Amino acid sequence: MTCGSLRKDAVKSIGTKKSASYLNASEKPVTAYYGEDVFNLKTMKDYLSKGVYNKLLATIKSGVAIDSSIADDVASAMKRWALSKGATHYTHWFQPLTGTTAEKHDSFIDPEQDGSVIMNFSGKTLIQGEPDASSFPSGGIRATFEARGYTAWDPTSPAFIRKGTAGATLCIPTAFCSYTGEALDKKTPLLRSMQAVSKQAKRVLACFGETVDKVTTTLGAEQEYFLIDKEFYMARPDLIQTGRTLFGSVPPKNQQLEDHYFGAIKTRILDFMTELDSTLWALGIPAKTRHNEVAPAQFEIAPVFEELNLAVDHNMLLMEILRQVADRHGLVCLLHEKPFAGINGSGKHNNWSMSAGSKNLLDPGHSPHENAIFLTFLVAIMKAVDTHADLLRATVACAGNDHRLGANEAPPAIISIFLGEQLNDVIEQIEKGSAKSSKKAGTMHVGVDALPHLPKDATDRNRTSPFAFTGNKFEFRAVGSHQSCSGPNVALNTIVAEALDEIATRLEKAKGPKFNAALQDLLKEIIKKHKRIIFNGDNYSDAWKKEAEKRGLPNLRTTPEALKALASAKAEKIFEKYEVLSKRELHSRYDIYVEEYEKTILIEGKTGLDIAKTIVYPAAVSYQTEILSSITALKAAGVKEGSAAQTAKAKAVGSLIDELASVSSKLDKAIADHAADKIVKELVSLRAVVDTLEKEVDDAKWPLPKYGEMLFLY
Ligand code: ADP
Ligand code: MG
Repeated sequence: MTCGSLRKDAVKSIGTKKSASYLNASEKPVTAYYGEDVFNLKTMKDYLSKGVYNKLLATIKSGVAIDSSIADDVASAMKRWALSKGATHYTHWFQPLTGTTAEKHDSFIDPEQDGSVIMNFSGKTLIQGEPDASSFPSGGIRATFEARGYTAWDPTSPAFIRKGTAGATLCIPTAFCSYTGEALDKKTPLLRSMQAVSKQAKRVLACFGETVDKVTTTLGAEQEYFLIDKEFYMARPDLIQTGRTLFGSVPPKNQQLEDHYFGAIKTRILDFMTELDSTLWALGIPAKTRHNEVAPAQFEIAPVFEELNLAVDHNMLLMEILRQVADRHGLVCLLHEKPFAGINGSGKHNNWSMSAGSKNLLDPGHSPHENAIFLTFLVAIMKAVDTHADLLRATVACAGNDHRLGANEAPPAIISIFLGEQLNDVIEQIEKGSAKSSKKAGTMHVGVDALPHLPKDATDRNRTSPFAFTGNKFEFRAVGSHQSCSGPNVALNTIVAEALDEIATRLEKAKGPKFNAALQDLLKEIIKKHKRIIFNGDNYSDAWKKEAEKRGLPNLRTTPEALKALASAKAEKIFEKYEVLSKRELHSRYDIYVEEYEKTILIEGKTGLDIAKTIVYPAAVSYQTEILSSITALKAAGVKEGSAAQTAKAKAVGSLIDELASVSSKLDKAIADHAADKIVKELVSLRAVVDTLEKEVDDAKWPLPKYGEMLFLY
């Protein structure tokens, strides 16, 4: 079957599409099945003895090392629970540096002498696994012949059951490292960075006379995605191979009427979302909001925030479930950052905060004392982001995000902080010393004596800022939609740990009556030095680009430029100092990400070339041939009328065909040279030709589903 006929069939079938009956459609109230597929505290309590439960709880809550004597009991309980859920297999579920999740299933079966089996799962197999790691990227940490890699149980993220229609598997979240103990995954450095920031935040809090066991980092990741009908997808080799459309012209109506954002959700999509939510809820993923996004066929889902490690695991799982549920509904979920050119792409808003117990440290609070702590953390974050803007930028660098950052829809590649009018005013007051402020009632000193109350909603919204304070958290908006949240948060935690460390070191020397003055001086000094990172205006404007350059803020537009920050001496130093990534681990990551970028571009180049040569070119030639035979027929019949127009058309299509051939050969050369920058450039040129042809060639002959179909028909 040709692509052309696939396109027609797809369009034809849409009208008759019915929603799938969904997997978790049940009469049960949400409260009855929420978390039913998770080995959570509630279930553990039922399945474990009190002693074992308490020991495990200590590990989960305060991070004390797991007591290995309880492993067998926990494993046996987990197995009993999993079997009761119909599980036949278990897997250590981990996050290698490919940026996806990985699983290798083992069945519980253990054959007996008499030909029967028992179901077995030991503490040892719970705690540690040894998958063959040779085919995972290690960035040179491990030679292929040293295939050993270990997965290690992460008790802070509960085990869960993944159900298919025909069976179930127990999934155990794990970290993944090499034989020599080096991290080969995204979870290990995340856990290390959480510890690092907790340690330094505790020191700062102690200066204010507050002692806490640990400071937790929290994350709520808003996830954007596209849904298109699967039949269109099947007729788009570019989507299949690269996750984005390499060709396609923007239809007359796209997103300019802004009628999709928060619009009424179509039935087929709502059915999808209903199954999605109930699947997530059964897995204890707190899906909260769902809505139509700005671009047609674009949607968003956001959970209630959770502790960072769990939230990252849940987001990884969410992406997987999005794809699977979509498939059940005859849809395809596109998580690429820019599946369609010319309309908005997708990102992930990384809402991040820190809390001590139940107290959110980025909540301005009610009392002056709380305000002083809040301002100290706020200023620490300013310092961190300004000092390491390049590093944060590097963590969101990938081929897909290059289409987004810098285009006027997503935050620009320049990292800056939005504080909002009121907080900005407070910061300016502090900078000037203990200046009196009359903006709100009261006098403002940054000590603990005379601080006014900061209202919770001190900030307006600014959609254009990459790093915005949003009332009680920071929202890092440059994360790509398909990316793991791990990398950005590893960096964020580590750079904030460094800033807090330096602040604590100063404040620890100023105990007693000198404290307020010392704090005041310190905050003033930091603000003076780092206020250039604050920008409350329109981040999309050209004026900001110029201003940012004047301020010396980095503007790293492409992935290769941006990634360099990962391999810098500055990055080595900070990650080593806070024991988040060793030099070797850091460089291995840099190498992997550079290679991943180059491979992605190469795949895009080859796919584009293939489509141009074998799908677009023949369609254009066939159309031109048709015109030419019509011209011949006109001549034979002695009809002059129409001949000039058709000749002009044949020429126009002909010169586009020539151009297609010439750009294709340039692209071919760039591919042969493995020159990523040239491939990117030639793909843009090729797209221009193909998209012009799309508007010239007979619609009946055009093989690729058009944007107007993919984005509006479902
Ligand atoms: P929006 O930014 O679209 O207004 P919300 O206010 O609903 O969205 O919040 C977006 C995300 O931020 C949600 O996932 C929410 O749970 C999360 N969030 C709220 N408070 C915190 C916090 N203290 N730490 C981390 N994430 C948070
Ligand atoms: Mg938001």
